[in-house]
Amino acid sequence: MCGILGYCADKWDASLEKFFGLQGFNLQHRGQENFGCTYSNGKKFNHFKDKGLVSQVFTRERRDDFSALQPLIAIAQTRYATAGGTDAISAQPHWLTLLDGFYSNATNGDLPMLQKEIEDLKASGTILLSGNDGEVILKKVLYAAHKRNGGDLIAGLKYLMETTPGAYSGCLMTLTELYLYRDPYGFRPLYYGRWRNAWVFGSETCAFHERDATIEREVYPGEVIVFDIHGKKEHHQVVPPKANRQKCIFEPIYFARPDSHVYENPAEVGSFRFQLGKRLAREHPVEDAIVIPVPDSGRFAAVGYATELGLPLRELLIRNPYIPRTFQIAGQTNREDLVRLKFTVMTSLLKRYKRFVVIDDSLVRSTTMKILIQMIREGAEKAGVDPREVEVHIRLASPPIKGCCYYGIDTPVSKELAAASHTIDEIAKEIDATSLAYVSLEGLDEVAGKFDDPKNFCHACFTAVYPTPFIPRTR
Ligand code: SF4
Repeated sequence: MCGILGYCADKWDASLEKFFGLQGFNLQHRGQENFGCTYSNGKKFNHFKDKGLVSQVFTRERRDDFSALQPLIAIAQTRYATAGGTDAISAQPHWLTLLDGFYSNATNGDLPMLQKEIEDLKASGTILLSGNDGEVILKKVLYAAHKRNGGDLIAGLKYLMETTPGAYSGCLMTLTELYLYRDPYGFRPLYYGRWRNAWVFGSETCAFHERDATIEREVYPGEVIVFDIHGKKEHHQVVPPKANRQKCIFEPIYFARPDSHVYENPAEVGSFRFQLGKRLAREHPVEDAIVIPVPDSGRFAAVGYATELGLPLRELLIRNPYIPRTFQIAGQTNREDLVRLKFTVMTSLLKRYKRFVVIDDSLVRSTTMKILIQMIREGAEKAGVDPREVEVHIRLASPPIKGCCYYGIDTPVSKELAAASHTIDEIAKEIDATSLAYVSLEGLDEVAGKFDDPKNFCHACFTAVYPTPFIPRTR
């Protein structure tokens, strides 16, 4: 999963550099491993990409270079690596200079047949530097545009969409044009809008939080929108959207920022999570308990749960925001240590109460929850309370995760998913929970139905039934 962002303007305005930087900061939650950028003033281009956060990569020196070129087009990506390494070569955007011009591309999403795409491109004589999805898409589009269609990028993107199953919302630029595109299933969100004299775009609407930015709409599944530095704006529905879209339901459950809209939902993501918490409370109430959110991902669902049952909500778990998301870190020991680094327990609460209901958005592996419960019981002991007297009920605001994701969320392979091979009772025993319950798939759909037709959402990680062909992942 990644964030893409950028703009296309018909004249340079010095404040564009600040706006562009803010877009990057606002989409930092979508990827913290790399940041990269390509920009052009219509005649010259420049680019950079590196390991690190936006603040580490978009340095004062690079910002000065950016402003000096006075770019009319810029694209960028905050990356969370799912294919390829975290080295700069695998980072995005990717770029290429051909005899007829300069091209650069960044995407959000994954190709579930990536290895086959790579082999097909190699067989056609294409040289790949990284094997990253964004590079594969760039070279496949250019190959189709030049080999078959006289350099027509719209035709190249059409070919991509007709022949490449998968999740990709992307931005492709030349020296003078910007192309926004989205796969026909619409797995990943992509918005565009206006800021002063620029067309701007971003993976979520939080990329438009700057004052006087306005949101136009989503890029539709199967659509290409073209802007240029002379003010052109064209819409091309290059392939029909799939009848049943596959918008990733994990975006509103977990990934997107709570103050964002994704998929043109009328309410913000935080509201979706609040409604899920209410539904969870109706399905699996715990009476006379103190409601505890797992910060930050469980917070909105916890408020919904507490509101529905009229229970008090308290903070027991304190999260250090500077430790990365645990399921992105390889190696079990490392992951367990990180949970302990990431969270601490407020023992004072454990002196006063004995029954807690802990709310999180999901349970992927059981590691995080198992360590949190251990830490709560250790905290009780420190507070002079018998840890076995403390009830820790776990409630999850998504159904059990039974299949890994091939579309851009870096969930582990099935054998590492707790619910893929264990019953709920077995997981409860393994993590030492007093009880464990998940919101049902029907409950999730009922909540999703308030925002969109639930048939338009991908559910593959809950059902392990995938909407496209894929090459099974083994690690
Ligand atoms: Fe989202 Fe799950 Fe579908 Fe992946 S499999 S796109 S995480 S709903």
